[in-house]
Amino acid sequence: MVDASAEESPSPVAQTIDLLGDRLTVAVLREAFVDHVRRFSQWIDRTGAPPAILTARLNALVDAGLMERHPQTHGGDRHDYLLTDLGLATWDFLVSVWSWQREWSPHGALQPEMVHVDCGHRGPPALVCGNCDRIVGPRDARLEMDPESLVLAARSGRRRSKRNSPPMSRADLQFTEVMEAIGDRWSALVTGLALSGVRRFSEFQTILKISPTTLTERLARLTAAQILTRSESGSGREYVLTPRGRGLFSIFAFLLKWTHLAHPEVPELGPKLRHVDCGSWLEPSLRCRGCDAVLERTSVLFEA
Ligand SMILES: [Zn+2]
Ligand SMILES: [Zn+2]
Repeated sequence: MVDASAEESPSPVAQTIDLLGDRLTVAVLREAFVDHVRRFSQWIDRTGAPPAILTARLNALVDAGLMERHPQTHGGDRHDYLLTDLGLATWDFLVSVWSWQREWSPHGALQPEMVHVDCGHRGPPALVCGNCDRIVGPRDARLEMDPESLVLAARSGRRRSKRNSPPMSRADLQFTEVMEAIGDRWSALVTGLALSGVRRFSEFQTILKISPTTLTERLARLTAAQILTRSESGSGREYVLTPRGRGLFSIFAFLLKWTHLAHPEVPELGPKLRHVDCGSWLEPSLRCRGCDAVLERTSVLFEA
């Protein structure tokens, strides 16, 4: 993606949050995965998005290498939009998003349920370490980073405004709750740090070099969304993840994994997760809770 402006281009993590932390984009990908949607008019019908906004999101997916335009056989100048390998590689991130929405949002039951084709098990998968195969949660992983990398992630480059969230015609495509956590750079970084054990206002502020006003506002928003809860015990105020907030761990683990895949040319990406038990970098994968097999994209189905 070439930015004509002279601004520094955003860090890889920021680019991922900007691209995938968007509810219409997630809805577009969901329809492509679950119902093999590939045409503009189909996405319009299913999401109710205004055409100009859908065009912008599809262009962003093409520019970032997740989709390719293919001329339609009898379509004149019209195109199909097909997922590339990089687009297909978002599936474990998307599975994590849907699983979380299914469990934690009021319309959760409308999300498609994952079915493992080989054993027939229905329901959310477990996140495991690719090195030692053990189940990993936020308390088992440690975030390691160059201290400057998060500041760069938050501040660099132009960011797309998401204030004009398009209307969605179907409740199961809204993704409103998960976007509280990944819908903008600051919220995503604060949540990511909370998942790696940061609790105090001053720690968030020191790591992110964020203004107190912005930090207060994001913490209030994440608290209202029941992702964090305030605790006044002991040596001052702390912000602790709720169970709902801890459930976001696999979404963040796969966001980082996909970021590495999307930017192979960038040697240092900043934040990386280490699996504390085995000591290796966390290469997250999904395992079936029914038969313990590691799940591949082609061995799972989604049923409404
Ligand atoms: Zn491990
Ligand atoms: Zn299974």
